[in-house]
This record gives sequence, C-alpha cells and structure tokens, in this order.
Amino acid sequence: MISFRDVLKLPKVYKTFVIAQTREKHRPDHWSVVRKKVHPIHKALDHFDDFYNQVFGKKWKEIRTGLLGKQKYVAVVNNYSDSSSICKKLEYGGALNIRKLFNLEKDYIEERYTESKRLRNLLKIWEKEKKLGNNANEAPNEEVENTNFENLSLENSLKGAEIDSDRIIDVRYASTSEVLQEFVPATELKGKEDFIPESSHYEYYDANTNITVKIEREFDIHFPENLNVYSYEIENDSSFKSPQVGSTEVFDYYLMDGGSILPVLALDLRPNDTFLDMCAAPGGKSLLALQTLYPSLVTSNDCSKSRVDRIYNVFNQFLFDFDKNFLKTNKVMLSQNDGRFIKCDPYDKILVDVPCTTDRHSLKENDNNIFKPSRIKERLKLPEFQSELLFNALCLVKKGGIVVYSTCSLSPIQNDGVIHMTLKKIWEETKMEIIVKDLTPALLQARCLYQLASPKLMKYGHLVLPCNAQNFGPTYFCKLQRIN
Ligand code: SAM
Repeated sequence: MISFRDVLKLPKVYKTFVIAQTREKHRPDHWSVVRKKVHPIHKALDHFDDFYNQVFGKKWKEIRTGLLGKQKYVAVVNNYSDSSSICKKLEYGGALNIRKLFNLEKDYIEERYTESKRLRNLLKIWEKEKKLGNNANEAPNEEVENTNFENLSLENSLKGAEIDSDRIIDVRYASTSEVLQEFVPATELKGKEDFIPESSHYEYYDANTNITVKIEREFDIHFPENLNVYSYEIENDSSFKSPQVGSTEVFDYYLMDGGSILPVLALDLRPNDTFLDMCAAPGGKSLLALQTLYPSLVTSNDCSKSRVDRIYNVFNQFLFDFDKNFLKTNKVMLSQNDGRFIKCDPYDKILVDVPCTTDRHSLKENDNNIFKPSRIKERLKLPEFQSELLFNALCLVKKGGIVVYSTCSLSPIQNDGVIHMTLKKIWEETKMEIIVKDLTPALLQARCLYQLASPKLMKYGHLVLPCNAQNFGPTYFCKLQRIN
C-alpha cells in the first residue's frame, strides 16, 4: 500500500486521485468522516438550545440534561394476564401504584383545603370580634396568627383554585396575531434560516380577526379503578425488567414513558365510551385505554399499513386471543386512514397524538430523524398538519364529547400554537362551540410524580418536563370539549 509520504512526492494531479481513493476506504465511523458531518441529532440539539432556551429560560439546562439522559418508563399492568399477581410482583420490587399515589395526594389536598378554610373562618371571627372591641387586647389564637394564609390559600387546594387569568385570552385587548407572538419566541430567531419559516407559519393569521376562547377549570382526574400503572418514586431511576409472557400467553405489562399516561387520563374514559385513537401506532395509548376495561369500542387508526401492522402485533401480544375476543366482536377496530380525512359516526372520546418533532428521539437517533435536511419541509409543515388532524377530530367527536391533543415535543408552536390555530379555524369556519379544559387544579394530584411546566408558560394545555430526578416526557396534552 502506498504511504502518505509517497503520496506527497507525487505530481499534483496524481495526488488528488490517490487521496480521493484513500478517502473512499475510510469506514463511516472513521474520525475524519465523523468529524466533518453534522448529524441530525446535532442539528436538533442546536435548534433546541436556541429555541427552548428562549422559551424555558434557566429551566432549559435541567430539561436538556433530562432529554439527553435515560428516559423513565412506567409499567401498565395487563388485565388480560394474571393482573393481581403482576401487581404484587411489581410492589415487591418497590414500584408504586400511580392510582393510589394520586388518590393519596387528592386526600391530602382536600385536608389542606379543609384546614385552610377552618383557619380562615377562625380569622374572620377574630377580626369581627376585634372590630366589636370584645377581644381588642387579647392575643389571637397562636395557630391562626402563625398561619401563612398565602400558602394555605385556595391556590394550594383543589376546589378553591381561582381562575388563572393568564390563561384567558381576551380578544378585546389583544388581536390574534399579538396573541400568537406568545407562541413564537423572540426576534432573535430571525436570521436563522431553519427557524424563520417555522415562525412565519403563523403569518397567514389575519391580525384583524379575533376569537373568543372559553376556558373552564377542572378539579379532578378520574383514575379508572381497573387501571394499574406502576412507577418507581422520584430520584429512583431503576428500570423495570422486560415484560414476560404469563399463563394466558400474553405479556404481563406494557412499558411506556410515564408522561404518556396523562393524555389518556385526560380523556376521562367512562364505561361504554366509544374511543377513536386517530394516530395510534404503535398502539401504546390505545392499549392503555383498553386496560381501563371501559370502552365499548376502540378504533385504532394510523395512516400507513406497516404502522397499523405494528398496532396489530402489539395487541396480539397483550390482548388474550385478540382476533376472536376483540376483532371479531368489534370491540377493537384497526383502520388505515389519513386522520385528516376520516369520516365516520361520532365518537365519545378522541385522542389526537400527532406526529411531531419527537424531541427526545431527535436527540438520540439519526435514522428517520425529523431534523435531517431532507425532511426540512415536512418539519416546517408540522404545525399546519397537526392542526388539520385536530380540526377533523373536533368535527368527529360527539356533542359533549372530549378530544385530547398531545405531542412529545416541548415546542410551544406545535403545542399551544396548534390549539390556537385550530380554535381560530373552528371559530371562523364552523358553528361549533369548543371549551378548553384547564386541568391545572386537577393536576395538583400528579405533582408527587410529575414535573409540569408552570401554568404561566402555558396558554391552553399542560406539559410534562423531563428532568434528572423524574425523567418522563416531554408530553404535552390539551383537553377540549365540544359543546355543540
Ligand atoms: N399514539 C401512539 C402511541 O402512543 O403508541 C404514538 C403515535 S405517534 C406520536 C404518531 C403516529 O401518527 C405515527 O404512528 C404516524 O404513523 C401517525 N400519522 C402520521 N400522519 C398521520 C395521518 N395523517 N393520519 C393518521 N396517522 C398519522
């Protein structure tokens, strides 16, 4: 083989040829090849560093560490296997039942509320007496005096949580385009070619058109009695063992990101509900819905055949005698449609878990990465595409029914921005009335396990933030109810 020294001695024309030949011999992981290439995961990180730093400020550093770290999973017990022994096994292993945790937290919040109410009433009596001059010189009850009423205020309690005016977009004071600026990070984005088109997605908003958004607070999360989901506590990053096949020849539990259970809980599934999972593959959230044992029909839809096949495989692995017990009985339907154009009878509940920038995945895998240069157009079209899916879901849901929109992205454009874009279209083009459900008080129950973005950062939905201590998410979800 010719040495590098020998190459240098060659006339120029040969030198180029030999070097080109030599380069071809480098393996793809050779330092000279690797160093020169900017991989999609690096592009994604650059993008997030610029964009999310502006959105989350100081918190971004912690979220970033989480995103780059080990994702935390929860175990959803399979009711079609030997569920009670699986629960016991998980509990022996130190895992905690999330339903029980939520209920404990709820009791605690209610106790705090009762206590704060009692203390407020005591204070009122004391103030009244003082005014009448009865106890003017008497020191008030120590318990009352030392109480920090700010901390015990309604803010810290379920039922008393006050309307958070930050969340209400009053269009008398803000034009739609001004409102949208809140979803698009500051002007620094300009000049960065990848970002300009992303923010300019919103240019087609008509600044003169106003919309009114009705927001209602919700105070409780209904955690179905049959749903058993296990997690290790905060700071404990133990992993669950891989699922095992049990006596009924199906797997004992399904592992999923801890954030992913919240969009399904937000659906508030009830017995005999009909449920459409519009973008369902690989089927995790449909499976979770089935584990509540509530729905009379679950339709799991995805746009491509290979993705629908994946749902079939998952259901086959987890649902006892799937073909006979679920498909033939029409309890489950698998469909392959573009969710934007589905036409069908109305459903009680619809989940729109849209394709998004899948932030965690985009930092880990180069294959099929949405930050690949070849996928730029697709990426920039995402918010519009997501909005079309959500729009159709709102058309397909029954009056009074619930639609939950969700992503696994931190992007305010793909999250609250898409909700806003869709509500505006509904407002302008239809007679439908939609209410946004603000789950802030209800989610107080979840704070023992989840790190949620401050409600001040969010307009409509809720966001599970990854962090080292509890590395779930990101999961954004927003609950919408169609009134008419
Ligand atoms: N909900 C799934 C789960 O929890 O297992 C994950 C869904 S994944 C985030 C988004 C899915 O949307 C992908 O499987 C993708 O194939 C599907 N999808 C993309 N475009 C779609 C469309 N136009 N209609 C329906 N599904 C679509």
